[in-house]
Amino acid sequence: MIPLVDIKAQYATIQPELEAAVLAVLRSGQYVMGSEVAAFETEFSNHVGGGEVIGVNTGTSALHLAFLAAGIGPGDEVITSPMTFVATVSAIDYAGATPVFVDIDPKTWTLDPARIEAAITPRTKAIAPVHLHGRMADMDGIMAVARAHGLLVIEDAAQAHGAEHGGRRAGAFGDIACFSFYPGKNLGAVGEAGAAVTSNGEYARKMRALRDWGMEEKYVHLLKGYNYRMENLQGAALRVKLKRLEAWTDARRAAACRYHARLDALGLDRPTNEGTGERHAFHIYATFVPDSASAPEAVRDGILTSLREAGVGAGMHYPIPVHLQPCFRALGYREGAFPIAERFGRTQFSLPLFPEITEEQIDAVCDALAVATGRQGLKR
Ligand SMILES: *Cc1c(COP(=O)(O)O)cnc(C)c1O
Repeated sequence: MIPLVDIKAQYATIQPELEAAVLAVLRSGQYVMGSEVAAFETEFSNHVGGGEVIGVNTGTSALHLAFLAAGIGPGDEVITSPMTFVATVSAIDYAGATPVFVDIDPKTWTLDPARIEAAITPRTKAIAPVHLHGRMADMDGIMAVARAHGLLVIEDAAQAHGAEHGGRRAGAFGDIACFSFYPGKNLGAVGEAGAAVTSNGEYARKMRALRDWGMEEKYVHLLKGYNYRMENLQGAALRVKLKRLEAWTDARRAAACRYHARLDALGLDRPTNEGTGERHAFHIYATFVPDSASAPEAVRDGILTSLREAGVGAGMHYPIPVHLQPCFRALGYREGAFPIAERFGRTQFSLPLFPEITEEQIDAVCDALAVATGRQGLKR
């Protein structure tokens, strides 16, 4: 069995150090926030390339606090990508603002800066690009539109730890950037965790207060806050893993290279090559069935079934664009609104990718994929 993500394989490589770090927290009696969280915040700031880091309990909480701290609320519109995990859009909704979707760039599958201007209204307050699958959105293009229209930028970097654009890291562009440390992410806690990063002292101060019941001094709740605190144990685990993140990202990239060559031979679309200064962090390795197939979703289902039978754990990220999700029906978007995101949703599937994946495993996945596509009558 080759899983989509192998968290146990990673655990085995760091077991003694990770267990010692976690045990030390258990023995310390300091369980919520604490010295490990504070140290992690400093170390993660160095990783991103500066800014204040606010550790929280989930990536979704980081997004929620980011929108609140930026003063985004009811009556405001936030432009984002329909091709993302639902949490990006839910966080906009939690803040009381209205998500406005703009279609993706077919080359990078991230928010297309060329389409943003047409969606800007007097109510637009911010742009929230998503670095999907670990590939950064075109931040030069997005920052230029944002500056021209006086809009804030909140990066959803939940999948993009260590990714770069123009030689700068995910999290170093926006007014605030948000990361998730869900166990399956490129940097994963041993439970739930997340963080926001900002170089704006006022936003940082607000997010620190909001994550802990709106307190800046004990007993005084300046703002209506939340319990979004990070556990000390997660800080300790993340510190052990952060030291390895660079090497793990390189391993993901090497695995992706091997997949590229095999998929090109199979005639399947795969992530387009990086531009200069771009570093794809390969949270997800995506491939596609041809949209020319008469029923691409059925062809994809057949391939996923064949892969599963061959012991290969494949997935989809994401089959239903957020504008077509039942929970956001009230936003009023119809099928056909965002053809590129919708085509992506119909045709995309994900292959196993994690730092510890071996060349033999990648070859086995590709062999199984060759059989699966052959069964579906896809010709090379
Ligand atoms: C995982 C993820 C989130 C949410 O993070 P959690 O830590 O699971 O709350 C938000 N946005 C994107 C794009 C994600 O992949």
